[in-house]
Amino acid sequence: MRLEYILRTIALISLVIMLQAPVFSGGFISKKTEISLGNNAAAEFEAEHPPLDNPELQAMVGEIAQSLLPHTETTGYQYQVKIVEWDIINAMALPGGHVYLTSGLMDFVETEEELAGVIEHEIGHVDRRHGKKIVERDMVGTLGLSILIDAADLSNDQALVGFFGKQIWVSGYGRDNEYEADRMGVYYTMKSGYDPRRGLKRFMQRLDEMGGDEPSGIDAWFASHPKSEKRANRIEELIVEFEQEGLRYPK
Ligand SMILES: [Zn+2]
Repeated sequence: MRLEYILRTIALISLVIMLQAPVFSGGFISKKTEISLGNNAAAEFEAEHPPLDNPELQAMVGEIAQSLLPHTETTGYQYQVKIVEWDIINAMALPGGHVYLTSGLMDFVETEEELAGVIEHEIGHVDRRHGKKIVERDMVGTLGLSILIDAADLSNDQALVGFFGKQIWVSGYGRDNEYEADRMGVYYTMKSGYDPRRGLKRFMQRLDEMGGDEPSGIDAWFASHPKSEKRANRIEELIVEFEQEGLRYPK
């Protein structure tokens, strides 16, 4: 009787640990569900903003992205970098590896370094799993605890798919995640052999010089990311930090 009680207690404790562990360590959304959620959001997004019909330009950004990926820590994602038809200056990453650049951004960037810097920032969002983290942190209350059990069906949740297709585009992933994506972007840019001062930093400075740090609807990057001047300054601090750690470029 006593032994049975002990065994049942152990079993119960094990179950509690099993249920709680994913929430407190790696989160409760699996990589498979995360990728599936990203794929569904990407399909919805592209229905509204179709990829630009310019195979050469699409291939060019794809090649830059492929040259960057070996220098990142990202694993398990099939990256797809696409230019979409849209006049505003913006870029976005969806969970699982979908990266979008607007035609407006392509008109604005002046160098390959700037483009690489923006793509690296977006890769930073994907491999730090910001989409998944936002869902786990902010949306559990909204969608109800049932998703803890039903996480596999999460990727088909229409509200959630729409959230990624629309909300992230406008608001970004929040200031802390944007700064983290900048950090990863600078780090990866330097590891890839690009000059980060001519990359993300210069891109931010030029945005700032345009005087558009108020959300205007024209330049959504301003609305969806922290203030450009502040970011450029912080990017310089990151570059110095990584230089002091011994990271050198070009290789
Ligand atoms: Zn971002």
